[in-house]
Amino acid sequence: MPVDLPLNAKPVQHKTSLRITCPECGNDTDFFEVADSVILTTHYSQNEDGSFTQDEDESQILGEITFYCGECNADLTQFHQRFLEMLF
Ligand SMILES: [Zn+2]
Repeated sequence: MPVDLPLNAKPVQHKTSLRITCPECGNDTDFFEVADSVILTTHYSQNEDGSFTQDEDESQILGEITFYCGECNADLTQFHQRFLEMLF
């Protein structure tokens, strides 16, 4: 039984319109992101016996971030903002 959906809800149509599709080759599943100039800082705690345990990773991106199609390597940076919004 469907429960209390508002009469104007259109969940399926809404979802498909948000998919990113490569305009060059039509790929809509594989993408990759490239970051320039990344500083990766890793924190460690030294234990009683002299060994180390990793606490946390901290990465800081200083340069440009570009976004590419995983099939044909087309530059899809124009979609990067939407990609970030849809990243969970
Ligand atoms: Zn492509």
